[in-house]
Amino acid sequence: MELDTPARPGLTYGTYPLLATATAVVVWAAVTHRLPISRDAALALLTVGTIVVAFTVERVNPLLDRWRMTRDSFVGRDLPFIGLAFVVEQVATMGVSLIAARFVPDGGFGPLAEVPLLVQALVVLLALDLLWYAYHRAAHAIPRLWRAHGVHHAPSQLYVLMHPVFHPIDLLVSRFVISLLVFRFSGATPDAAFLALVVLNLQQTISHINSDLRTGPLNYLLIGAETHRWHHGAGERVNYGSVLAVWDIAFRTFVYEPTRVPDQLGLDDPSSYPDPRRFHATLAWPLRRAKVVSPR
Ligand SMILES: [Zn+2]
Ligand SMILES: [Zn+2]
Repeated sequence: MELDTPARPGLTYGTYPLLATATAVVVWAAVTHRLPISRDAALALLTVGTIVVAFTVERVNPLLDRWRMTRDSFVGRDLPFIGLAFVVEQVATMGVSLIAARFVPDGGFGPLAEVPLLVQALVVLLALDLLWYAYHRAAHAIPRLWRAHGVHHAPSQLYVLMHPVFHPIDLLVSRFVISLLVFRFSGATPDAAFLALVVLNLQQTISHINSDLRTGPLNYLLIGAETHRWHHGAGERVNYGSVLAVWDIAFRTFVYEPTRVPDQLGLDDPSSYPDPRRFHATLAWPLRRAKVVSPR
């Protein structure tokens, strides 16, 4: 579907620079200790602040009515997944800390900890997104993994608060296995891990926004709203990255269409997957012995 000229250019072109600038200021203040709060508190502040701004922008300036959040979609489908994602994330973070405390020194180590902060953060992001890219492509290709990942693709809408609609298996891969490897076992310093996590959170939150945000050539560097919505397009097999576009570009799965959006979102065949409103059935789906459906 072709995009019209932006109805509110200030929001279309200004929202992302505003969020990125505010994020950069908070990160700088936290890393240089000008802000008397911990990294965890700064991360929580940025996460909540970004969600509030993105949520407000999509209510004021929605891109498509049919992608909107409704009371039924939020309460009947998303809310249990949001609660579950919060719990899994806390458990995963605790697990990462416990294992790291047992096996690796605090504060970074090895060659990565010796290079400048920005280089460390870039290496961490490159490694994180390569691992996620590999898992994500496998999750779209291997039936058993697709049974877990498919829940993120079941909604035929796209909005900020549906972002946490994930199966716990996906969350444990990203928030436990990959986080442990790239944030702790790589040797990166806590400041570098914090910086990478901030960028990850910003990109993931705005990736699902139902608003006409445009960032121009930056789409070739970072995955955002204009590229991730193509990953949710029915029949599409593109843009598997979560933060960086580099792996999609390298492996020829990158799509950026500045003036178009997908005609239809969601599963190729919705009847092939449980309705995610059936929370328990969806959670049990990867473990069931029933005939395994074809990946999307
Ligand atoms: Zn996917
Ligand atoms: Zn998504």
